[in-house]
Amino acid sequence: MNKIYFDNAATTRIREEVLREMVTNLADVYGNPSSVYKTGREARALLDKARVQVANILRADASEIFFTGSGTEADNWAIRGIAKSYKDKGNHIITSNIEHHAVLHTCEYLEKNGYEVTYLPVNSDGIVEIEDLKKAIRPETILITIMFANNEIGTIQPITEIGKVAKENGIIFHTDAVQAVGADEIDVNAMNIDLLALSAHKLHGPKGVGALYVRKGVKLEPFIHGGKQEAGKRAGTENVAGIAALGHAVELLQNEMQEKNEKVLNLRNMIIDELLEKIPYSRLNGSREHRLPGNINISFEFIEGESMLLLLDMKGIAASSGSACTSGSLDPSHVLLALGLSHEIAHGSLRISIGMYNTEEEAKILITELEAIVKRLREMSPLWNDFINKQ
Ligand SMILES: *Cc1c(COP(=O)(O)O)cnc(C)c1O
Repeated sequence: MNKIYFDNAATTRIREEVLREMVTNLADVYGNPSSVYKTGREARALLDKARVQVANILRADASEIFFTGSGTEADNWAIRGIAKSYKDKGNHIITSNIEHHAVLHTCEYLEKNGYEVTYLPVNSDGIVEIEDLKKAIRPETILITIMFANNEIGTIQPITEIGKVAKENGIIFHTDAVQAVGADEIDVNAMNIDLLALSAHKLHGPKGVGALYVRKGVKLEPFIHGGKQEAGKRAGTENVAGIAALGHAVELLQNEMQEKNEKVLNLRNMIIDELLEKIPYSRLNGSREHRLPGNINISFEFIEGESMLLLLDMKGIAASSGSACTSGSLDPSHVLLALGLSHEIAHGSLRISIGMYNTEEEAKILITELEAIVKRLREMSPLWNDFINKQ
């Protein structure tokens, strides 16, 4: 286990009380929620309660919440489901070029199956321009799918404005809010959001549970066929304990969101300010203003992101980089390239994502260690030495 965990955008530690309740439910409430006898009814009650808890944080109605096996499944279902259900109306989808792969790869799949997709660019701050969105709309546009907050650079999109444009043009609006739930205020009605994806493990719940909000009246084909679960829209015996844990985690977070966000934001600002000040030739990627409280994405020139990660890991610190070498690809992140960063700069980036369990002491250790690591790696770099000698 890493002593210091700064990768909360990848996943979060499950809350102690959520875990305890989940284990109890797994053991004791083993009935099938579709059964009529007592333990079945108890399981059903857990699902009903979680549905209300998830609906509350979105200001939605419980009947509009459908549980899934992940955030990825919720995104797939929303996009493929709308594409199928509204095929008679058109075949054009608008998204952005900084989406999570759950959205991007689903759109690419649809492109191979007769749909047309517009990938909107983002500005140098990592934000979609509303004018670009308006220009992309065609008579055959059936869906706008733009993420609420980005998982790599933390930028928050102008969701209210996007929802307004979608509504004015009679287009369905889906948003991947996996990073935003519990980190930003969400009101699906005020924001004109028609579908929204979320995931439990990004908000201190268990892995393998997600949910899709679907506005009443929006037609959505089932994604998985079988029994009558989830109003006949998502078959398969429900992950009762996991769903109850999602509801519990969401409710706890909703109650302390402001307090948590303030604490996380203070740590974030301290780390950003100190790193930019102490480490020359470094830059923050993405808007500082329209940004998740817990996200930092910084590039260090003349540094390889992967080397930074390995050296941080040796110090017990977990973080993430903007290159994906460890996952078998040499391409830098599509999100950093979309900001206009060169491959070199994108390769030298580090994502530090802060969560509710991080402390000021951990932040200080991170800053000290990172400063030393960047210095050490640069001293080993011939490019850096050339560069410095020419100054
Ligand atoms: C993590 C994440 C997902 C995928 O959620 P899973 O539950 O891990 O499948 C989708 N979108 C964003 C923005 C994410 O951060």
